[in-house]
Amino acid sequence: MKKVSWILIAVFFVFLAACQSQQSVSGTADKSENNDKQEDTTDHKDKDQPSEKTSGLPKQDKKEKEEAKKAKPSYEMKDNWYLKPINGEKNKKVILLTIDDAPDKHALEMAKTLKKLNAKAIFFVNGHFLGSDDKKAELKKIHDMGFTIGNHTYSHAYLPDLSPAEQKKEILQVNDMVEKITGERPQFFRAPNGANTEVSKRLAKKEHMTLMNWSYGYDFMPEYEDRTKLTNIMLKTNLLGNGANLLMHDRDWTNAALKDIVTGLKEKGYAMLEPDKIKRINE
Ligand SMILES: [Zn+2]
Repeated sequence: MKKVSWILIAVFFVFLAACQSQQSVSGTADKSENNDKQEDTTDHKDKDQPSEKTSGLPKQDKKEKEEAKKAKPSYEMKDNWYLKPINGEKNKKVILLTIDDAPDKHALEMAKTLKKLNAKAIFFVNGHFLGSDDKKAELKKIHDMGFTIGNHTYSHAYLPDLSPAEQKKEILQVNDMVEKITGERPQFFRAPNGANTEVSKRLAKKEHMTLMNWSYGYDFMPEYEDRTKLTNIMLKTNLLGNGANLLMHDRDWTNAALKDIVTGLKEKGYAMLEPDKIKRINE
């Protein structure tokens, strides 16, 4: 499919999509998508990433992660929802896997599934899942397995409904919690429902977090709450293309479908992008 039409379809679709988790918490899951596609990513600085603690990682993973961080980024977020090769890797077929609303029930199992398949991913976490020592330990394990941890707000709040002070609390609390648990502050921010505000954009920049929405996802739609149906649509959608950013959640059916989805993506010739290769805001 031609690039332009792919983009148009994706833009249309992404407006329909909504990250419908935690309805009981936010009560706003039915609000329509606001994806901030005007978000300007051109002001990202192309500097090396700072070295960070990766002490819990097995030697090989640690080395790989450190090398990826030191290397020049090879992909950048375009308009907040897909990834574009900066140079060199144009002929590679890559996609980015993201798991939202973690760590609720299945995040650790999903991380183990991905690890077995050698598939990288970002887990976007909510602070309200991190109250117990067990959950904190789970997040630490996911991080130490080499996965990237992103900020998805404390309570999965719909940010446009909140005051600037409330938004600040929703976002900063999670960075503090994640840093305390893993030793690293998140470098990616995904607003619930993709609904960023001027405050969240400013704050993300101040916190050196790159804003990230997604290209497509289906597991929040009732008709795809099924292993086979979800696997099929994730692999057969026209939105699957080089640089696509795949949205999934910590859910029963997604957990069940994950191995099939990743295996299917590999069979189609896609590699899972290491998130450390993505250019960040870093000033
Ligand atoms: Zn979410």
